[in-house]
Formats: sequence, structure tokens, C-alpha cells
Amino acid sequence: SQVYGMELVESPDERYESIGGLEPQIVEIQEAVELPLTKPHLFEQIGIAPPKGVLLYGPPGTGKTLLARAVAHQTNAHFLRVVGSELVQKYIGEGARLVRELFELAKQKAPSIIFIDEIDAIGAHRNDSTTSGDREVQRTLMQLLAEMDGFENRGDVKIIGATNRIDILDRALLRPGRFDRIIEIPLPDFHGRLSIMHIHTKGMNLGENVDLAEVARLTEGKNGADLRAVCMEAGMFAIRSEHETVTQDDFMKAIDKLSLDFDKHHINTS
Ligand code: ATP
Repeated sequence: SQVYGMELVESPDERYESIGGLEPQIVEIQEAVELPLTKPHLFEQIGIAPPKGVLLYGPPGTGKTLLARAVAHQTNAHFLRVVGSELVQKYIGEGARLVRELFELAKQKAPSIIFIDEIDAIGAHRNDSTTSGDREVQRTLMQLLAEMDGFENRGDVKIIGATNRIDILDRALLRPGRFDRIIEIPLPDFHGRLSIMHIHTKGMNLGENVDLAEVARLTEGKNGADLRAVCMEAGMFAIRSEHETVTQDDFMKAIDKLSLDFDKHHINTS
């Protein structure tokens, strides 16, 4: 459901099985987010504070949101999502208040996971510019830092941030007790692309000649979102040519078409 300025999901449907590649990243997030939620006593026993938040960074369309939703599913946690740029652009003058309300709601609904997408929009280096837009961004960031420092770390509210621009993030966000685990979510390699192709063709009626490894080889540099589009487009070609199954040729046409579209519209897929 949509609460003002944020998305709230009881418990998302995504599972780790619907994520292709990213095996080491899944293990890391299980340790940093899932374990403190499901087995807080392990941290008490050993006497260390569980991480409050993790930051996922890497190019767009690689599965950051998917991963955050899968953790929430796995832990039966509420999933609260906000988008950094919306906090400061769509609800002008209300960024700080929205951040305060976000944390209040997360505590009320605990166990919960707060997902802040495009966190760079509120968490970029502070510069000395004094336009009102920048002041608004600063106020929002200050509120976020205060909330992260303020909430008691019992382990039942976790924060996951996501960004494509870790290079411009304010160091203050990365201090211990804030986003103290940083996980890179890279573009998929061959193995990752193959596994993403398997996931997205699972419900499709594939012809016998379909060679997903060939598709994975021909899509170097493409992300998970691109590969999902390849599957959809291949299905469209099959429907247009009235095939009963999707053929390898449909996949080849889909790759060609999407590569052309990316070039034509100057879409940066990396
Ligand atoms: P952005 O930075 O643009 O928000 P993101 O990294 O959060 O991107 P997602 O929103 O998770 O990317 O990915 C978009 C869609 O692409 C997913 O819903 C999924 O269908 C597909 N996808 C991306 N990465 C993967 C993956 N590793 N495995 C399976 N599907 C993927």
C-alpha cells in the first residue's frame, strides 16, 4: 500500500531463488540483515552489536531492490521503501518530516526493513552551495543521520540503502553504526546472466533448440533488467510469428532489437 511518500509492503513475494548470480552478496546480506532479525541472541551471546544498515551499490538494474525485498520476505519483515530523489523533489520541504515518519512507522511495524533507494539524492557530499534545494537536501540528510544514530539497535529494524553513485556519498553515512556494511552489486558475469535467463524463462514455453548459454554469451555488459526485457521481447516475436514455442531465433531477434533501442535512445545500460 502507499503511505504518503512511501511504499509499505506486509511481506514482499520475492525470494532468493528469483535472484540470478549474486551468491556471495546474498550470503553477506543474510549475515548482516537476516541473522540479526531472526537470531538476535547470537549477537547477544557473542557480545557484538549487529549492523544497523547495509549499503548496496552498483549499476542500475542489477537486482538491488530485488535483494532487499527478498530479505524482507525471508524474515517476514515489513518492507518500507522510499526513494531519495522523491523525498526531496516530490514532497518539497517535507523530506525531514518524511524521514522521521518513516522511522516511526518502521519501529511500530517491527520487524521491518527500511529500503532507501537512490540514497545519493539525499546523501551526497555536502558542498557550500546555499540554494534552497541544497538546504532541503541537507536537512533531510541530517534527519536521516539523527534517526540512524537515535534508534536503539535491538536488531528488529534494519536499513538498506541503495545507490549507483557511491563515489559522491557523504562519508558521514558510512560511519560505524550507520551503513557499516557495504556490498557491491555488480553487473552479472556469464554465469550470472545464464542464471538470470533461467529464472526469467521459467514460465515460458521454450523450443527445443533454445540455447540460453548462447544468449548469455551474446549479452555481455547487460544487466538483469535488460535480460528480463530480452525474454519478454523474444516472447513477443514468437507471438507475432505465431510460433507455439519461443525459438532461439526469437531470442536472437530480441537481442538485436534491444541493442538497437539502447543505442537509439542513448540508454546507458551499464
Ligand atoms: P535501480 O538501481 O535502477 O533501482 P536495481 O539494482 O534496484 O536497479 P532491480 O529494480 O532490482 O534493480 O531490477 C529490476 C528488475 O530486473 C527486477 O525486478 C528483475 O526482474 C530484473 N533483475 C535485475 N537483476 C536481476 C537478477 N540479479 N536476477 C534476476 N532478475 C533481475
